[in-house]
Amino acid sequence: MFYTTSVCPKCLRNTDLKLLGICSGLGPSATICKCGIALISKRKEWPEMNLSEKGGFIGLSVLGGLAVGTTWGLFTGTLIPGSQNNWQFPHNFTPFGSAFVPGLIFGMFIVCAIQAFRVILSVRRVRDLQGQPPNSTWRDLMGTQFLILLLILLPLPLLYLASGGKAFGK
Ligand SMILES: [Zn+2]
Repeated sequence: MFYTTSVCPKCLRNTDLKLLGICSGLGPSATICKCGIALISKRKEWPEMNLSEKGGFIGLSVLGGLAVGTTWGLFTGTLIPGSQNNWQFPHNFTPFGSAFVPGLIFGMFIVCAIQAFRVILSVRRVRDLQGQPPNSTWRDLMGTQFLILLLILLPLPLLYLASGGKAFGK
């Protein structure tokens, strides 16, 4: 299945959404649904995670960074030589040249920044809420995964727009 949801047992609202069953495991272990009941999740806040759970979060973040970095690398790897040569590509052209690197770095940086921000928010929740579960928010439903997926897919239409379709043979 492409995505799975968790549903509030009382009001049947969707409360969590995971793409391909992937979960970084970071987040409140309980949240308060809009209907008022507490929802238990398998997530843990950063200070509650053990070393292997933190390692899993970092490993998944690196994989996400590589996925985003690869599509942004393909973007700059095509955009930079393409725009310099009026979108004429030699037969042996590959987007994995030196112009691939800035996109790769940008993609990896942005995912690392998002994940580091999530860790900061998690540490703050533990400090400020003193064990009280936070209210369920749109983030519980949308998660970070849709943001990462959007970042993976975004370079394709961007490249199309930037080249006026020429990078796609138009
Ligand atoms: Zn509910």
